[in-house]
Amino acid sequence: MTATAETRKFEAEVAQVLHLVTHSLYSHKEIFLRELVSNASDACDKLRFESIADPGLLAGDGELHIDVSWDPSARTITLRDNGIGMSRDEVVANIGSIASSGTRRFLEAMGSEQKADARLIGQFGVGFYSAFVVADRVTVLTRRAGAAPDTGVKWTSDGRGEYTLEDADLPERGTTVVLHLKDGEDEFLDGWKLRSLVHKYSDHVAFPIRMPKDAAADAGEDADSEGDEAVARADATPEWEAVNDASALWTRPKAEISDEEYQNFYKSLGHDFNDAAAWTHNRVEGSQSFTTLLYLPAQPPFDLMMGGRDERKGLKLYIKRVFIMDAAAELLPNYLRFVRGVVDADDLPLNVSREILQHNRQLERIKGACVKRVLDLIEKLSRDEPEKFATFLKAFGNTLKEGIVEDAGNRERIAKLLRFASTKGEGEARSVSLDDYVGRMPEGQDAIWYVTADGHRAAAGSPQLEAFRARDIEVLLMSDRIDEWMLGHLREYAGKPLKHVAKGELPLDEADRAKQEEATAAAAPLLERIKGLLGERIAEVRVSARLTDSPSCLALSEWEMAPHLAHLLREAGQDVPEQKPTLEINPSHPLVRKVQGEADDARAADYANLLLEQAELAAGAPLPDPAAFVQRVNRLLMN
Ligand code: ADP
Ligand code: MG
Repeated sequence: MTATAETRKFEAEVAQVLHLVTHSLYSHKEIFLRELVSNASDACDKLRFESIADPGLLAGDGELHIDVSWDPSARTITLRDNGIGMSRDEVVANIGSIASSGTRRFLEAMGSEQKADARLIGQFGVGFYSAFVVADRVTVLTRRAGAAPDTGVKWTSDGRGEYTLEDADLPERGTTVVLHLKDGEDEFLDGWKLRSLVHKYSDHVAFPIRMPKDAAADAGEDADSEGDEAVARADATPEWEAVNDASALWTRPKAEISDEEYQNFYKSLGHDFNDAAAWTHNRVEGSQSFTTLLYLPAQPPFDLMMGGRDERKGLKLYIKRVFIMDAAAELLPNYLRFVRGVVDADDLPLNVSREILQHNRQLERIKGACVKRVLDLIEKLSRDEPEKFATFLKAFGNTLKEGIVEDAGNRERIAKLLRFASTKGEGEARSVSLDDYVGRMPEGQDAIWYVTADGHRAAAGSPQLEAFRARDIEVLLMSDRIDEWMLGHLREYAGKPLKHVAKGELPLDEADRAKQEEATAAAAPLLERIKGLLGERIAEVRVSARLTDSPSCLALSEWEMAPHLAHLLREAGQDVPEQKPTLEINPSHPLVRKVQGEADDARAADYANLLLEQAELAAGAPLPDPAAFVQRVNRLLMN
């Protein structure tokens, strides 16, 4: 065996993860058991799936299970599964290196958040390494299902940068993981403790998790036994007893499942340690039968926060209780990517591939049902549990907004769920729904007004709001980056158009309109002068109906992008066409009157430019020439 021994270095990033795991993860060390059981369960799932096409893979050992044993004298814990196992190459690829970007995200999250919490580890696809939280040496013995006994592999590492690979003769397929515990971790060498951890974290694993029946039947009479031999002996222990329920929770009748069971199942599904905010469990019978169990998380998983759109652990697709694949992208649209859960279909062919799924009519119908269930669930949460709903929206509201663009068919339903800050809301709180707004619209108001800006203060301080305040018209204050994009697709709600306060006609009554016309006529020479002074810098200047206190603001044409957004997109390297601003002035403001009365053209030009630049600043647009602006202000201040 040793003739084939080979020592290799971990990939640099794996070594970093290991360093972090061994030096920083002190809380919730017990998580290693959940992660290793979860890997064993995945391995059983994979074998069950592959055996559909190749039943020979199960060869005389068709009952898939996971065994957990311990040996106090050797100070080892051993997990064994008779699942798919790994070839030598797979061992190197799966646990010596990390193909996914999970590692990097894990390191970023741990580094930036300073939240070195072992409970997070499974979310990043680096769960195996949690073994090194409690062990200073880990041995993996594994053989791929269907391969010859002498193709087994023994992998050993102390988690400090290197691992060793050897050939091994393994009579049984599957994987054995032996943890040689660090000093001070003896609490885990206890049958009762291990059992309670299995209950806590892995009760809903769909395969039997077995432990030696008599906890006192010490595995360790032989004081100088080696850990790996302890495995063989543990295997020889005659009586194993399943310690989990091993039934697929979603197949049981709702009435028989407690909230705690639902929550525990959620936690094991999502590798989350918080309770879910809500769930919905349904069975559809008919020409096409399927079961869905869908959860709303209370907190965003780190992946989502790190912008991970390639979520691996979201929605699991089962076909008649056989795990087929993680199929979040196939079962739900992207804007609902925070949903966790299980879909179990009766009528799909077991040999479906991802490609087939993408064009499968049956799956389309299931997907439609999932979307409906999730939107129902969120709606119910908004009605029945406002506090939980507020927390949920804080975490996922912006993700949900993507649905306005992505899912035209459900646009109105999604819009109903959103909450905004408003000139009639409480400060920055996002608590006003479109229904609230429409419900208190005074008679005669025929549009839903909003303003967008790069931040709440900028939105609340927009000069364009003055006319609305003066007329007591509510305006929604939008300051998330996604809002502008969303609003481009949300043109109306409940039959009322949504309008930007800087765009189009204002809601003026007869008297207002007459005053406006009068002011425009009176200001004609002034408008002409300003246009002359600003020349090419503006498209147009006109008398504003939007202002009461400020001297000037920008107005936007119907399809024009808000200046702060255009700026943002340009910064991001996008090609946004330049559009000359339309300037609106308030002729009764003293600063505007100064332009009118100023005989010196140079000084008048300074004032006019300042009117424009103030309006640009308030709209979040960058000044084309900041130095010239500063000089201008100083000139005016000093004279
Ligand atoms: P994840 O489970 O999220 O993929 P892990 O770090 O927990 O990440 O495991 C890494 C990989 O190692 C798994 O994807 C799998 O390919 C392999 N692996 C780990 N444990 C087992 C096992 N018991 N049987 C077969 N393969 C395993
Ligand atoms: Mg895992």
